[in-house]
Amino acid sequence: MKEKEKIDWLKSHCYSEFASMYGKVFDDLTETQPIFCVCGKLATGLHERTCKKFNNKVEREVLRRLEHLLPYYLTRKKLRYGSKRNHESGTQDAVLPEESRK
Ligand SMILES: [Zn+2]
Repeated sequence: MKEKEKIDWLKSHCYSEFASMYGKVFDDLTETQPIFCVCGKLATGLHERTCKKFNNKVEREVLRRLEHLLPYYLTRKKLRYGSKRNHESGTQDAVLPEESRK
């Protein structure tokens, strides 16, 4: 689902890069599956254009090639800082008033 987020980001922020890379990857992947599609059906050009599985595969490959365009917050493996920061500020809030009371 994080992958989907990144793909959506690329589509909305770098559409021309995404679209041209999509075309390239589509051709590359079409060549690597000469007879059968990833879904198991006969890989005709028409089928590949409409096949959801194949298009998901293309999108994932596009994402890999365009990952450098993503903003830092989307490239982090885990979005961990949100909860960590909450925890830290929570500790601070708890400690500071206590010390000022003494
Ligand atoms: Zn297919």
